[in-house]
Amino acid sequence: MRIKKPFKKSGGFGPLFYLVAGLLVAAPLVVAGVAGYYLFLKDAHKPQVTLLPEAEAASLKRTFTVSAADEESGIRSLTVTVTQGQRRTDVLRRQYDPPRDKISERFNLEGSELRGGVFEMQVAAYDGSFANLGAGNAARVSRRMLLDMMPPSVKPLTPAHYVRQGGVGLVVYEVNKDATRSGVMVGDVLYPGYKQKSGQYVCLFAFPADMDADAFKPRLFVEDAAGNERAGFFVNMAIKRRFREERVDVSDEFLAARLPAFAGLFPETRDPVERFKKLESELRKQNDATLDALGKKSSPEQLWDGAFIYMPRSVVRGSFGADRTYTYKGQEIASERHMGIDLSSTPRAPVPAANNGRVVFAGPLGVYGNTVVIDHGMGLQSLYGNLSSLAVHTDDEVKKGDLVGATGTSGLAPGDQVHFAMYLHGRPVIPIEWWDAHWLEDNVTSKIKRYASGGDAPQQ
Ligand SMILES: [Zn+2]
Repeated sequence: MRIKKPFKKSGGFGPLFYLVAGLLVAAPLVVAGVAGYYLFLKDAHKPQVTLLPEAEAASLKRTFTVSAADEESGIRSLTVTVTQGQRRTDVLRRQYDPPRDKISERFNLEGSELRGGVFEMQVAAYDGSFANLGAGNAARVSRRMLLDMMPPSVKPLTPAHYVRQGGVGLVVYEVNKDATRSGVMVGDVLYPGYKQKSGQYVCLFAFPADMDADAFKPRLFVEDAAGNERAGFFVNMAIKRRFREERVDVSDEFLAARLPAFAGLFPETRDPVERFKKLESELRKQNDATLDALGKKSSPEQLWDGAFIYMPRSVVRGSFGADRTYTYKGQEIASERHMGIDLSSTPRAPVPAANNGRVVFAGPLGVYGNTVVIDHGMGLQSLYGNLSSLAVHTDDEVKKGDLVGATGTSGLAPGDQVHFAMYLHGRPVIPIEWWDAHWLEDNVTSKIKRYASGGDAPQQ
């Protein structure tokens, strides 16, 4: 056994040691001091200031955000002042001790005593330097704005709206001033209205299949350039719909045939049934987010013309809104609400475009397999999934009846079929209404013609 020898010179440090140690401790302080002194005196740069939104009009309640940054000496103070005639009010005043590199503050004009009309908003941010005799460098932003305290008003023109669960309603309305945003609010989702040449707005809105009839209370909504908002009531009848229950048996053969297409996904999950469950839940969620984003690419113009068509000589294998349970050897393994209609014909049957529009997606889309999405305008889109081949490309213009592809088994299709679905602003709606010429005439076409074509709209 070896014992370490004690350090012989532990008894005392020489003067050289104290000198070196002293320098080591003092040097950073000196450097920091010089740097600080340098910054305080030499920071000649103004802070950077932004004021959002870049609006030309404001309401008293509109929220503004002012951000300021100064990398050298930091932000020491910030003020926002509004001036109207001789009156001057601070609406925001902040001091930062010690100064901060970056700040962001929100404010509105409720405490300002401004009156409706033109006013000037000035932002001043000072940095922490000793420039300008110690006051710091100042950055200023000033903007002339109109204070508009008059909320817009919105008036429905269509008299009554019967909307079935999972289906669509259409309202025509009028706004008394320019609106930056308007439409129908369902829950916290805004279905935008589209201004017609006649000046009226046309809005399609959905009664979501998974929303309770008692919770479905659509309201008109309008917001003007100043941020003033107004809600409006319109007569709406919610009609409950019963959705079917469907059971789909998942066999080992099915898993062996479908899972290889998803080989790169969820590598940590090996068990085929567990892999299927992951695809059904997690991948489906991602795919639906893609569809939601596609909804935002819809044309403001109506592109469809008359009733939509479906694949000829086909039978329905799965219905819209069905509460679908997947079973494996008698055990329930997954469930979903089936948001389309599965149509089957002969294998690889030609699938026609349901109506005129523009292709906004053509390619593989997860659980939906090879997929085409056609935009028909005003938020309305049709989807064709599980295809074996595609006959169109993104951005193609298509006419009703044009070939979009052939039925198939791609994705998680139970058999050779097309999964056909209709979406309104990225949310699934029942396709049958759009196939039904009478429903379309009564609920959409005649309403637009009668209330939004300008000239002699009847008085209500
Ligand atoms: Zn389907």
